[in-house]
Amino acid sequence: MKIDFTRNFIGGAWVDPVEGATMPVYEPATGKPFGSIADSGIADVDLAVVAARKAYDDGAWGRTTATERGRMLTRFAELILGNASELSAIEAKDTGKPKSVADADFVALARYFEFYGGAADKLHGEVIPYLNGYHVGVLHEPHGVTGHILPWNYPAQMFGRTLAPSLAVGNATVLKPAEDACASSLRLVELAAEAGFPEGSINVVTGKGHTAGAALASHHGVDFMSFTGSPEVGQIIQKLCADHYISCTLELGGKSPHLVFADADLDAAIPVIVKAIIQNSGQTCSAGSRVLVEKAIYDKFAARLADAFAKVRVGSPEMDLDCGPIITAKQQKRVQGFIDRAREDGIAVLAEGQLADGIAADGYYVKPTVFGPVPRANVIASEEVFGPVLTVLPFEDEADAVRLANATDYGLVAAVWTRDGARQMRLVKRIRSGQVFVNCYGAGAGIELPFGGSGKSGHGREKGFAALHDFSKTKTMVINHG
Ligand code: NAD
Repeated sequence: MKIDFTRNFIGGAWVDPVEGATMPVYEPATGKPFGSIADSGIADVDLAVVAARKAYDDGAWGRTTATERGRMLTRFAELILGNASELSAIEAKDTGKPKSVADADFVALARYFEFYGGAADKLHGEVIPYLNGYHVGVLHEPHGVTGHILPWNYPAQMFGRTLAPSLAVGNATVLKPAEDACASSLRLVELAAEAGFPEGSINVVTGKGHTAGAALASHHGVDFMSFTGSPEVGQIIQKLCADHYISCTLELGGKSPHLVFADADLDAAIPVIVKAIIQNSGQTCSAGSRVLVEKAIYDKFAARLADAFAKVRVGSPEMDLDCGPIITAKQQKRVQGFIDRAREDGIAVLAEGQLADGIAADGYYVKPTVFGPVPRANVIASEEVFGPVLTVLPFEDEADAVRLANATDYGLVAAVWTRDGARQMRLVKRIRSGQVFVNCYGAGAGIELPFGGSGKSGHGREKGFAALHDFSKTKTMVINHG
């Protein structure tokens, strides 16, 4: 592995942290440390922001055309695919993901750079008819320097989701990946340099949230922030941004529902519902963690779901089963806490997955669990677990289903399972959620599709063309030629 773990990538070079501090990183499958990373502070973040500013204001990056940026992004996509097996091995070790899941993450990552490579020179402005003798144009310009703070659940995919559109628009970027999973970001930034991104256009600084992360969001040299993580930290980021009058996108958590009606095709629905909660061990902001089922079919549905869920198997990345371990000992304890509390509250367990023989005793594993029927007022019906825990709740009729679907503070993703076309349309409109799927869930990596939430799920949109608008600012030009 060619990763230089303990240095930051600033201004096109590997730089030791100013105070020299490092911290260990642990392998989730074994609980053992496997390296160290730079534990950066305010001074390191400052170096990175200054390097980005220089690249944007005076460097080669600031002079690139949109077409040249598009070519760099496309070349980077090719390099990612060419190095996919090395990258995937790093990611699986760092996050505990099953090998094939890590492989798929790099295919998605390459697609982010391919999509935004193609889009870079298509962010066109507008001409607005106005007063006689005036020419009015609307331009979409980069913010300047963008800051990016990421979580640990999809380090590779998030690297592309947040950086690719920002770079396509022409911003210079500073990334603070999650301290619990940043190895792939450190390798990727080297490949980006190989793809031709000039010095200072992509800077990566590792470290803890309340130090390096807070330093980035509060730095006056940063013009826009993109944050993905927990709702609690999202609020902190928004306040730090407000202190220096910049805006941000917040991609936060979710408690996303499936609404299953009596006329649904259960053969199609059940495998998708199981996958939507066990994928990445439930550590997915868009995990489908609540199943709302029409009362008339509750018993039939619960029995069939239990049969499918009992087959879920959990193992190490090399075993390449349905689920891997949880990312850290702390998260494992948190997820297990939700399971234990639900049991203590007397909620019935419909089914559990199985832990494979031969997993390390000190790995951060939990048994995937499905609970049902879950009382509406129970914490597990409304709080995000961020683990492989599914809750099943019965509903009376369509109005009750909508009430229940909208009964949490989140609003990220939802799915409707019904054959009734008019009902599909009504529900798409009435469910409070950034994405609504009908008779499917997720349906591919969805890089082309705008993504984001409302309420406790955040605001702003990433993915698709929408991200290019969030990563740019609009300038109105009025020329008097009369
Ligand atoms: P987290 O909020 O604890 O950490 C996310 C990032 O924020 C990390 O890089 C961390 O170092 C940094 N951070 C922490 N405290 C900070 C502070 N005071 N100032 C600045 N930065 C700080 O979240 P997590 O535990 O890494 O991830 C889990 C959460 O993220 C879940 O709630 C999940 O739903 C959410 N998430 C959302 C999406 C999405 O796209 N909506 C994607 C992945 C994860």
